[in-house]
Amino acid sequence: MRKKIVAGNWKMNKTASETTELIDALKNQLSPSDVEVMIAPTFVNLQAAVKQTSDSHIEVIAQNMHQAQSGAYTGEIAADMLKDIGVQTVIIGHSERRAYFGETDAILAEKTKAALDNGLRVVFCFGEELADRQSEKHFELVASQLKNALFALPSSDWNNIVLAYEPVWAIGTGETASPEQAQEMHAFIRTTLAAAYDDALAQEVSILYGGSVKPANAEEIFGKADVDGGLIGGAALNAADFNAIIVANK
Ligand code: PEP
Repeated sequence: MRKKIVAGNWKMNKTASETTELIDALKNQLSPSDVEVMIAPTFVNLQAAVKQTSDSHIEVIAQNMHQAQSGAYTGEIAADMLKDIGVQTVIIGHSERRAYFGETDAILAEKTKAALDNGLRVVFCFGEELADRQSEKHFELVASQLKNALFALPSSDWNNIVLAYEPVWAIGTGETASPEQAQEMHAFIRTTLAAAYDDALAQEVSILYGGSVKPANAEEIFGKADVDGGLIGGAALNAADFNAIIVANK
């Protein structure tokens, strides 16, 4: 059975003390639910966040990692460093990494493989830009992102992959895909997965939607058949809003 998940991507926000404060607020405010809850603070605050959440059901995940095992890659973080501090999941391929840090499909294929080979679970992000949608190339683009980065992986790796469809035009813009647009793309992703592997695998993979999800629109988006939850940016920085979004994933 695929899982319901709500993950908060904190991006480059929150100092160490602010991270502690927000986790305290989350621990106090999160309602019990069967939704898997993840938060992704910045690298410098990961270890403290893992410790602080050890008595809760909140999983602390990383926003990125390097594909090499170790070596001369100044400023980078390797998979086993994440594992060593108790991180079990990493976000790969966020559109900001693609746009500002030159992460291509080929690099993301390497990162994903490195993460999986090191026993990490991957939340893999992808999605079209506005120009792709306006020129009606969004399905083609999404299919190529998935194929280029993920379809060389064996079926067994898919137990440890969560997909996050994030149309770039909806990230941090206040613009949200309509629930119908999200469902249409999520169904297409599942069909694409079934064609590359098989239908049973496609039915097991959790597919999250990301892009300006808020308490006001979460329930309608999560209510769609192929939407299993969300990757949340801005609204994950406020405990009450994040909780409302989790509760909306029924
Ligand atoms: C994100 O960064 O993955 C995201 C979805 O951001 P926001 O919710 O702010 O659009």
